[in-house]
Amino acid sequence: MITIQSLTKSFGKQEVLKSIDLQVQKGEVVVILGPSGSGKTTLLRCLNFLERPDGGKVSIGDLQVNCKKPSKQEIYDLRKKTAMVFQHYNLFKHKTVLENVMEGLVIVQKQSKLKAREKSVQVLEKVGLAEKLNAYPSQLSGGQQQRVGIARALALEPEVILFDEPTSALDPELVGEVLSVIRKIAKEGITMIVVTHEMNFAMDVSNHVIFMDGGVIVEEGTPTEIFRTPKEERTRQFLKRIT
Ligand code: ATP
Repeated sequence: MITIQSLTKSFGKQEVLKSIDLQVQKGEVVVILGPSGSGKTTLLRCLNFLERPDGGKVSIGDLQVNCKKPSKQEIYDLRKKTAMVFQHYNLFKHKTVLENVMEGLVIVQKQSKLKAREKSVQVLEKVGLAEKLNAYPSQLSGGQQQRVGIARALALEPEVILFDEPTSALDPELVGEVLSVIRKIAKEGITMIVVTHEMNFAMDVSNHVIFMDGGVIVEEGTPTEIFRTPKEERTRQFLKRIT
């Protein structure tokens, strides 16, 4: 389980996260929705300290981190429990697909190259890229590159995968292949937190939807509650604009 308590983050004078409280159960697929600038990406990045929160507590599984005074070891441990899939893939351009996936296993997890290779091939097969092990990112479509990003996250076997707008950099015709890979992994029971503007995906795949605005969680619930019977006016207005 993931628990976030009173999480705060400001950039200069701008308070971007205003005391966020959230619980995510093991195996849940959580979708975070909200207008541009509402703090969705910042919240995601605070969970693995890519962005340093100002205060609050984050716990993932048995690890609890006080965000005000985390030790280096706690940050390291927290990062080992999470993996992130980025909007712009963030692949190593001069490494092959296989090497991109192996990198974290060998360098961070200190696995043997043999074991890392075996695991990487297995996850690349899962995302439909068995034929591309030796290709370089520049030889792949955006959708394929993002599937490498997903394979890289999966290989780490984290407690949670954080997806930051995983399809928003893709041409529309490539969105489907990436969403269907995410769907497939969601069915395997991996805990996921996904920032996305893909409403159909949120509706079909998630079991917990969060609507953020102005640095707070305005409303959360099941997809049916949020999409069909939203309680808050701000949620209704947002959904009206984008659907
Ligand atoms: P979008 O849907 O456009 O990606 P978002 O809801 O994910 O938006 P964030 O990216 O979390 O929003 O940004 C929230 C606010 O914090 C924005 O006003 C943004 O300009 C600001 N912000 C984000 N990162 C930084 C940073 N590194 N330095 C300064 N301000 C930042």
